[in-house]
Amino acid sequence: MTNPPSQFTPEELQQWQLAIAEADRHNIWCHCRQCDAEWVASTPVNCPDCGSDRVERISCWQFPDD
Ligand SMILES: [Zn+2]
Repeated sequence: MTNPPSQFTPEELQQWQLAIAEADRHNIWCHCRQCDAEWVASTPVNCPDCGSDRVERISCWQFPDD
């Protein structure tokens, strides 16, 4: 399990945990290379903003640990 950076404030830590929980529920973090939109999804989908299929997808368990 990924640990939060130690410099997080309690408020930032809560937001981090919410973001992880959100990603865990939907499983896939998505980033549009076309318009730079970010969202989470349970299935691979095109960008909801611009419709591009140039989408970077990262499963929640693959978040970089830094
Ligand atoms: Zn887009």
